[in-house]
Amino acid sequence: MQPSPLLLAAVSISLSSIAAAAPLQHGDGAAPGSAGLGDPFFPLAGNGGYDVSNYALTLDYDPAANVLGATAVITATATQHLSRFDLDLRGFTISRLLVNGQSAAFTRSGQELIVTPRKTLGARKTFKVTVDYAGTPTVVVDPDDSIEGWIPTADGAFVAGQPQGSPGWYPANDNPRDKATYDFRVSVPAGLTVMANGVLVSSTTSGGRTTWVWRENDPMAPYLATATVGVFDLTQYTLPSGIPAYVAVDPHLGSSSVLDKLPEIVEFYASIYGPYPFDAVGAIVDDARFVFYALETQTKPLFDRMPDEVTLVHELSHMWFGDSVTLTEWPDLWLHEGFATWSEWIWSEHTGGKTAQQTFDTLYGRESDTFWNPPAGDPGAPELLFSPSVYLRGGMTLQALRVKVGEATFFQILRDWAAEHRHGNATTPQFIALAERDSGLALASFFDAWLYEPGKPTSW
Ligand SMILES: [Zn+2]
Repeated sequence: MQPSPLLLAAVSISLSSIAAAAPLQHGDGAAPGSAGLGDPFFPLAGNGGYDVSNYALTLDYDPAANVLGATAVITATATQHLSRFDLDLRGFTISRLLVNGQSAAFTRSGQELIVTPRKTLGARKTFKVTVDYAGTPTVVVDPDDSIEGWIPTADGAFVAGQPQGSPGWYPANDNPRDKATYDFRVSVPAGLTVMANGVLVSSTTSGGRTTWVWRENDPMAPYLATATVGVFDLTQYTLPSGIPAYVAVDPHLGSSSVLDKLPEIVEFYASIYGPYPFDAVGAIVDDARFVFYALETQTKPLFDRMPDEVTLVHELSHMWFGDSVTLTEWPDLWLHEGFATWSEWIWSEHTGGKTAQQTFDTLYGRESDTFWNPPAGDPGAPELLFSPSVYLRGGMTLQALRVKVGEATFFQILRDWAAEHRHGNATTPQFIALAERDSGLALASFFDAWLYEPGKPTSW
């Protein structure tokens, strides 16, 4: 994510801190899945007791009325003997809910959709949940006051989910730990384009409506899904590496040569981070300036305006760090934003602009408390998650590491990190362990100074 220049000041809204209750045992040994996965910032996001492998989302959108009608088919595997489980879904009226083809009882409580199947689900058994739902999507407001979910625009919808917007448009196990593949089949009035993740399978028009079918073949965290709708000029081409590119631009924004740099940017990051991790690439450039951010939706970053070069490279670098290697818990967000910020600097260095060290030196002269705090590795509260220090001090952490371990080892660390956690999840302690392994150095006090101690690091 990259906030736009005029991002509103953070306003705190306290989260209800509902701890997941211990599961009650049933006579047959089955127990309910927990209502959350215990994320320190979003404890109810995601659910226990199962693991999703695929979401098949069939959506019908009427932009004039802002009404979404949908069927979600979720394929999952029980990780315990399961008497009941939750999905995350905000708003909508559910007209039918099936588990393995049989109607199932359900109740709603906030974002929790609580499902009780007729028969308990055996541990390690695969099951399918079908949810028919409709209504006007609820825009999700975050603890920092930013908006996400299915956000209506003048000609469609800007669809973004970080960190908790996905339940605003589909029932999800909304936790970055539960990655899955996705099939999208989205019907909109003819003349509109739907941009979802992955490769375009087909688009067919009949009866005044066009159905766009997209498939995301690689594992994706729920918050990285999109199905952005609007009037778009869609350009398709193939990168030299054979990867299909899809670049959609709202014609209201005119044209910009910045998007022509996409192949070169992807090629450069592949040269330093290792192979591009997905089977499609692109960009979705919408006219939605009121959103005030861009997001690294998987395979096709989503922009609320025509991006400048820095924003474009930031979001594309997230394909390696954020989308392929994804945090396990939200307080580790520097693993995404510090890496994407440093990626901006190395792109500048590569293209003959300021070097990453020059940027580091300039920033190191900053003395204000708000520049250095909260520490990049410990934002402390959900409304501080996207603090500038998570980005800038996070990026500086990597540049300081580059100096500490030397050029060759540093790039080896980045390539190993991308390769060893490809399409997976990871934590800051795992990054520290990898950096120590590759460098042969003890780096605990280095990372302590850069990631965890409040205020400006003075020795490391
Ligand atoms: Zn970002």
